[in-house]
Amino acid sequence: MTHAHPLHADLEVSCLCCLAVQPFHFTSTSDQVVCTLCLHHIGAEKSERRDLEHVRLWAARWGASETAHEEYIAETDALLVARDQDLTILRDQVAELGALVAGQFSAGIEGVRQLLQNDLVRRAERNTELARRQIDWAMAGLWRIAALHHDGPAAKCSCGRTAGTCAESAAIDSLRQGLGDWEKKNVLLLQDGRRHGLPAEHPAVLAQRIR
Ligand SMILES: [Zn+2]
Ligand SMILES: [Zn+2]
Ligand SMILES: [Zn+2]
Repeated sequence: MTHAHPLHADLEVSCLCCLAVQPFHFTSTSDQVVCTLCLHHIGAEKSERRDLEHVRLWAARWGASETAHEEYIAETDALLVARDQDLTILRDQVAELGALVAGQFSAGIEGVRQLLQNDLVRRAERNTELARRQIDWAMAGLWRIAALHHDGPAAKCSCGRTAGTCAESAAIDSLRQGLGDWEKKNVLLLQDGRRHGLPAEHPAVLAQRIR
């Protein structure tokens, strides 16, 4: 009986006796397709021994493959569990990062807005304060001029010149209304114990000092 397997090559072929896949190396098409274990099964051997050996062979093979299969299942299960854990960790991280980004974004915007507002308010307050001091300084100067040049008795300027001839009085005439308002406001501030722009020689300041 001939076979059709390739010659002069290491092959895995089913043995015609035990039917298990076994290593073969054929050198002739007339080589028997019977494994080394089964060579003595051919011929006059008792069929009981042959069958027993075949059962042992298959039992060993089945046991080995079952162990391998169990190991494979266990490995696969472990891999799946590990993959699940990785996925859970990644999902948690994504959620955490998402929350962090959202939180920082809104916190950042709020912080920036607050900073900006504080800065704007501070700058506005500082500018207002500076402007107020400059006005106070100018008004105090005006007040000193007005104290020297205002309408006195007998149609004369308090400086002694005839009304209408005092250049200083004429120069500040249009400012007297505003000067009066400023003076009233600052006298109130003085009386409230707050900072005011009245000059040191102002009667209200002098009165306060005496009191
Ligand atoms: Zn065999
Ligand atoms: Zn056999
Ligand atoms: Zn005058």
